[in-house]
Amino acid sequence: MDINIVGGGSCGLTAAIGLRRAGHKVKIFERASTATAFGAGVVLGQNASLVLTEYGLDWAAAKCNQADGIHLHHGVTMQRLSTTHTDKAEYAPRPGITQYLAHRVDLCQALVDLATASDGSSTPVEIVYNANVTAYDALEGSLTLANGEVHKADLVVAADGVHSCAPAHLLGHESIRHTGTSVVRWMLPTESLQSDPETRCLLQDPEYATFWISADRQKYLIQYPLRLGTLQNFALYIVHKETAELNDQTMRSTCDRERVHKELDGFSPAIHAMVDKTTDSIPVWRLGERDPLPTWHKSRLVIVGDAVHPMLPNQGQGLGMVVEDAAALAVVLQDMPPNPSAEQIEERLSIFEKIRKPRASVAQLLSSVPYYEDPLKTLLPQLLEHMPMNQLPASGLPNDVRPWFYRYDVFKEAEKAVAEQQKELS
Ligand SMILES: Cc1cc2nc3c(=O)[nH]c(=O)nc-3n(C[C@H](O)[C@H](O)[C@H](O)COP(=O)(O)OP(=O)(O)OC[C@H]3O[C@@H](n4cnc5c(N)ncnc54)[C@H](O)[C@@H]3O)c2cc1C
Repeated sequence: MDINIVGGGSCGLTAAIGLRRAGHKVKIFERASTATAFGAGVVLGQNASLVLTEYGLDWAAAKCNQADGIHLHHGVTMQRLSTTHTDKAEYAPRPGITQYLAHRVDLCQALVDLATASDGSSTPVEIVYNANVTAYDALEGSLTLANGEVHKADLVVAADGVHSCAPAHLLGHESIRHTGTSVVRWMLPTESLQSDPETRCLLQDPEYATFWISADRQKYLIQYPLRLGTLQNFALYIVHKETAELNDQTMRSTCDRERVHKELDGFSPAIHAMVDKTTDSIPVWRLGERDPLPTWHKSRLVIVGDAVHPMLPNQGQGLGMVVEDAAALAVVLQDMPPNPSAEQIEERLSIFEKIRKPRASVAQLLSSVPYYEDPLKTLLPQLLEHMPMNQLPASGLPNDVRPWFYRYDVFKEAEKAVAEQQKELS
């Protein structure tokens, strides 16, 4: 099939690699001038690293750190409160699959390289940059660019992130809302912390993320190493009353250092000394969410990734879910007949939705509460709308939620769903 993907972020690029491997001719339309325009650190759970390992990602070349777990520290006394191992063998969906910490820019570059490389057996993906998609037509299988060009294909995959206009095209209304939570994110060279006696204590084990929590445990600063330990990534969650309308323009902004000091009032002097090393214009990401959508596809259009299921980063699984979407889509679109009709495509997309929608909707709900709340206690009725009790995590505690995310083998699940559908049809 000819497949046009809108958005060259992690989801669009991973989908392009999978669909190319499944024998399709893939073109990506990306609004930015490069696929590596912005980003900071992300944690790749084993469910995501399984897919990227299978697709041939070279983790060392992508400068990813292996991640072993999380240290929880008191942000005032700096004392270690607990250590959680998140890279246990029993969390691996397949032997040898581990967690990684990646810089989005490095990850996207590695995915671009995989998507566009000649491998002698499948068609390299074509990426069109500076291509701002402004409209979709599901029945025609077309997209329209801001310059008026219309591009048609057998299938259009909308992977254009949280502000995609594809859900509105499918449902007739837009449903993204600002959560009132923002994340302030910055990175510092490890050397700048190491060489300062006051901040050296912030450098814990290189394979661990560190949560520095406030005395009342309501506020936390997350720190983890990137680029093989040469950078330290920091993320501070701010819950505020500000309700600026959330759109492409307002999603990213900046704040000054004083604001960060104020948010971290009461934290240790070492943490404030570290904040002093940042620039005075620190990136802020306003977080958006939407309720699970009733449907993800229509005719020749399917919506994937953050475009269909944006979620808060509380479980660190946004990227995990987009990578799973991409892999599942490639599995269900294997062995398509030549020149497939819209009905034949819809048949496959209904399998895709059957596998992905319940899991991603549950992931959205599990991610909607902070780590110190138990989502199974507060959100059980909503969770049961998407998944029966026996398929949900046994409890909302991290020891049950983590394996529910990490141990998932999307290839196995997608192949099983395709086989079941074929059996039903025969
Ligand atoms: C603060 C923060 C921390 C996070 N931490 C983690 C983590 O630790 N682990 C984890 O798993 N996930 C994490 N996530 C979530 C993860 O980053 C996202 O879920 C994931 O990047 C979404 O990928 P995507 O490709 O669907 O969307 P995006 O990455 O948003 O990519 C969309 C792409 O589409 C392009 N685009 C947009 N509009 C158009 C248009 N009109 N025309 C053409 N192209 C367009 C954009 O330029 C972009 O390249 C975090 C998110 C945030 C905000």
